[in-house]
Amino acid sequence: MNQQLLNRALGAYLGFACGDALGATVEFMSAKQIQKRYGVHSEMIGGGWLALEPGQVTDDTQMALALGQAIIDHRGWNLQAVADNFLAWLESDPPDVGNTCRRGIVRYRDDGELIGLPREDEAGNGACMRNLPVVLATLNRPDDFEVWSLEQSRITHHNPLSDAATLALGRMTNLLIRGEGLDACQREAERLVGQYSEFAYKPYPGKASGYIVDTVQTVLHYFFNTDSFESCLIATVNQGGDADTTGALAGMLAGAKYGLERIPERWLERLDGEVAEQIRRQTASLMQMND
Ligand code: MN
Ligand code: MN
Repeated sequence: MNQQLLNRALGAYLGFACGDALGATVEFMSAKQIQKRYGVHSEMIGGGWLALEPGQVTDDTQMALALGQAIIDHRGWNLQAVADNFLAWLESDPPDVGNTCRRGIVRYRDDGELIGLPREDEAGNGACMRNLPVVLATLNRPDDFEVWSLEQSRITHHNPLSDAATLALGRMTNLLIRGEGLDACQREAERLVGQYSEFAYKPYPGKASGYIVDTVQTVLHYFFNTDSFESCLIATVNQGGDADTTGALAGMLAGAKYGLERIPERWLERLDGEVAEQIRRQTASLMQMND
């Protein structure tokens, strides 16, 4: 396998987990509260409202791993296996579960339904946040990417804004991993804003809630206005709000852009070792599906 490709894919997945672990400390704090308490929050110290261990990840990374494992175990797409893995995860007493994710998984558990009716109140960031394994498994197969992304999303989030964001951030990550560069990435972001003007992020409105629009604006603003993995992640999580999720998605893009070797060593060392090992194994297996 092309080493550069693998390096950027690993950068994306480990970067994603680093953003989750870094941001979780300040999840649901405002930018002002973070500044008052930490100055600049830049170390993986755990804590936060979930009282995490340093380097511990949350639902964002755990759901991505559950999705990735279903793809690997079934050597391709099996939506029911994805839902089963989400359900097993929910029943594993995870540190955190988003409300919309819980509702969708419980619906699957009780009724066997893999997709709900479209709902306006499902425009959260839970589907978008976990989609990276689909990106990695379908690098050269855009049609599979689209079908798999939308199907896994709608287990819990069936909403046009969630769908559009999941596809756009996935395509941006794909472009970066394949080395297509920032221009192509920027065009993809512009396409999203052209499709749904809600996502316009210039000028940056400064909100970073779990609403998918706020999340995407925060991630794109800081991704396009920083010039390193480290500065991108620090700027993103210090915006507060849904900081583990914005951090994870910014880490996914920045990791794909800058590559594994630009992720600060101190973060990689602190990141939960078992999670990091799982990510390395999954990345290798998922990327093999592109051969
Ligand atoms: Mn989380
Ligand atoms: Mn979150």
